[in-house]
Amino acid sequence: MSKKFVYMFSEADASMKNLLGGKGANLAEMTKLGLPIPQGFTISTEACTKYYEDGELVNDAIKAEVENSLEQLEALTGKKFGDNSEPLLVSVRSGGRASMPGMMDTVLNLGLNDVAVEGFATKTGNPRFAYDSYRRFIQMFSDVVKGLPKSQFERVLDDIKETKGFESDLELSADDLKEVAEAFKALYVKHEGSEFPQDPRTQLMDAVEAVFGSWNNERAIIYRRMNDIPGSWGTAVNVQAMVFGNMGDTSGTGVAFTRDPSTGEKGIYGEYLLNAQGEDVVAGIRTPEPISRLENDMPEAYAEFMRLAIELENHYKDMQDMEFTIEDKKLYFLQTRNGKRTAQAALKIAVDLVDEGLCTKEEALMKVDPKQLDQLLHPMFDVEALAAAKIYGSALPASPGAATGQVYFNADDAVEAKKRGEAVILVRLETSPEDIEGMDAAQGILTVRGGMTSHAAVVARGMGTCCVSGCGELKIDDSAKTFTLGGKTVAEGEFMSLDGSAGNIYLESIKTVDPEISGDFGRFMGWADEVRTLKVRANADSPKDVQNAVEYGAEGVGLCRTEHMFFEGERISKMRQMIVAKTVAEREAALEELIPYQKADFKGMYIALDGKPMTVRLLDPPLHEFLPHSVEDIKELAVEMGITYEELQATVDSLHEFNPMLGHRGCRLAVTYPEIAVMQTRAIIEAAIEVTKENGLKIVPEIMIPLAGEVKELAYVKKFVVETADRIIAESGIELEYMVGTMIEIPRAALTADAIATEAEFFSFGTNDLTQMTFGYSRDDAGAFLDDYYKKSILESDPFARLDQTGVGQLVQMACEKGRSVKPGLKLGICGEHGGDPSSIEFCHNIGLDYVSCSPFRVPIARLAAAQAVLNNK
Ligand code: ADP
Ligand code: MG
Ligand code: MG
Repeated sequence: MSKKFVYMFSEADASMKNLLGGKGANLAEMTKLGLPIPQGFTISTEACTKYYEDGELVNDAIKAEVENSLEQLEALTGKKFGDNSEPLLVSVRSGGRASMPGMMDTVLNLGLNDVAVEGFATKTGNPRFAYDSYRRFIQMFSDVVKGLPKSQFERVLDDIKETKGFESDLELSADDLKEVAEAFKALYVKHEGSEFPQDPRTQLMDAVEAVFGSWNNERAIIYRRMNDIPGSWGTAVNVQAMVFGNMGDTSGTGVAFTRDPSTGEKGIYGEYLLNAQGEDVVAGIRTPEPISRLENDMPEAYAEFMRLAIELENHYKDMQDMEFTIEDKKLYFLQTRNGKRTAQAALKIAVDLVDEGLCTKEEALMKVDPKQLDQLLHPMFDVEALAAAKIYGSALPASPGAATGQVYFNADDAVEAKKRGEAVILVRLETSPEDIEGMDAAQGILTVRGGMTSHAAVVARGMGTCCVSGCGELKIDDSAKTFTLGGKTVAEGEFMSLDGSAGNIYLESIKTVDPEISGDFGRFMGWADEVRTLKVRANADSPKDVQNAVEYGAEGVGLCRTEHMFFEGERISKMRQMIVAKTVAEREAALEELIPYQKADFKGMYIALDGKPMTVRLLDPPLHEFLPHSVEDIKELAVEMGITYEELQATVDSLHEFNPMLGHRGCRLAVTYPEIAVMQTRAIIEAAIEVTKENGLKIVPEIMIPLAGEVKELAYVKKFVVETADRIIAESGIELEYMVGTMIEIPRAALTADAIATEAEFFSFGTNDLTQMTFGYSRDDAGAFLDDYYKKSILESDPFARLDQTGVGQLVQMACEKGRSVKPGLKLGICGEHGGDPSSIEFCHNIGLDYVSCSPFRVPIARLAAAQAVLNNK
């Protein structure tokens, strides 16, 4: 039998999410549960993949299946698609495996045309409603399917409202709406050069193709990259009989959550609008009512909604985000899914669900997105500074957190400002999916329109970006790039602050402080720790960083970068002295002076670690990084150092390299100047001995030699390290174990890992450099062209953020296998950026690393991701 591409809702269920997308699978599941669902069918994600395989074409076999399903739907509804007196109208809705809010487009009321709209008006006895539906359809079809500018349609509507002196769409009569529909069609003709399609089957297939096509639109690609969704998944298309919330005051539409998506508090939380359709609630065109009001407006529908919402939550064992429509007092569900939520809400919900007996700890662990956890660790306003600041306005607290930054009015300006290193507050009338990059660049988002479930609110919560929405008093002057609020005018680039938890707006910058961590956090992370087998360390260079990291649950330091210790205060001048030294004796003298600083840092870190392991990397960067480069600065420094300008300039020149990233750095420095490795080893070992004696801690220092590519260079440097360490330990009179290992960051090291392992007791994968050298991309400059790679679907994600498992990952895995083949107990870890990225962490777990190491703020992310890696394999 040939492959089936189309499924009636009654033929499927929630387990078919990969095939039918989240929306389709859940509509099927709700049908199975007996909920009131307008019926329909789902064209599978495989049909989307096929569409692309066939050269962006829906083939005849799939078309025939659609036709067949349409007939079944006609039988179910008793209406005919394309009928002129009682037409079956449908919505065409996209829906992939992962929910991508607002990323894909929906067309409602499809099936109407000039003749059918008359029949529809007569049949329903409601011409206003019929023309309202038609004008909506024309606009959505033109926008979604044909890509005509939405704003022009909005302008036509606004103009007609203005000439009639109306404020709201609701004041438009049937005749007015007929006029709107005519004007819309004229606009269509103007753009397309052809009449608005009157054949419902053409309308349908055009819409289906448009949904498939939208899978690869720019904003979908950006969203996928930000959320690790592969392009190969494709989207499904749902064709569903329409129900109408715009039939009058006994109809309406709304969205609701079973728990508060900001705080996690249990209880139905949502908004609705009477006499409205589809996106009206989230589009922010009219301000919606809180769902509790529905109890007065339509008590029966409200009671039924409450009952079924709870049933859905119990069924899915998670907080649900639902869409519903009431058509002449009759309730319908149009969508349910596990709701997006803030990190704070995610934790509370996960912990509450366990306490309520709705799910197990392991299930709860899977309900929190690890990436979200760092939202909890980000700054809040300083209480006093906040109290002293003047509130200029307040609106809906759409996404919590504190943001201070400079004002920008559009996404492009926001992105540019971010590139300049500014903190950005994006101020918009309302946001739309086109703004996604600007929203991502912003610390905070403020909108004039829109409720708690507006696009801005939903997207900001997902991103963990602070957002205040629906501030109607705020007046934006787009041409002047200013806004006015509470009597004050603020220009582009000026400072303001947003309190996303209270909804308050401030027109000044306000000090922020580090957040406190709730009890839910501790409990939840404890569950993660029980499950995971991968250890989590932090990359930390100072006792303070270590303290932070340990507080967030780090089990050691996976990477202590010693060079950072040489930039502060007088250290840099000693370092420079060392660099300009002409003889070994001079260099040793300068190094000798550096030892006390370095030792003190190590001691502080050992103490903060309280016996947990620490990997210290020997000096890594090229030496020119410690010297100034402008003539003026060089002159000034020469005077300070008591040498001539020419001498210093000569040193700077001699250190110049065309490719410093491929230059004299890492263990190559120690090959030339073994005395540097000797000095650092002394500091590491002496600090450990002193802390052992003074604090009674058992310390096993891990000394890491960076950037080796050839076993002999590793052996050469290691010899100095071992001799020095053994001598000092022997003199100390105590026993101290230590380890010497290397960082695998050069492809050649991975390829020859069996040889390298003979000289190393541990490997730590420096995947930043390894990615750079495997791809041949400069990690400092690649950002400039990688955008083109995403847009052109050559790369789906930034290989510096998410480990390229196919190429770089293969090297990592090979090195592990080769290394352990000669040294079964070889300790393996990763210390690149990827150590804090959930999908990369799962990979590390799967190939058997002992630990990942990441920045302190990402430690909780890594702990949870490591637990999920275990659960994903169950
Ligand atoms: P999104 O994924 O952007 O939420 P949806 O496909 O869910 O897009 O649809 C957009 C809006 O249209 C939602 O408010 C939804 O409830 C409404 N809608 C979709 N299909 C129907 C239908 N058959 N009848 C009535 N309203 C519908
Ligand atoms: Mg939806
Ligand atoms: Mg490196």
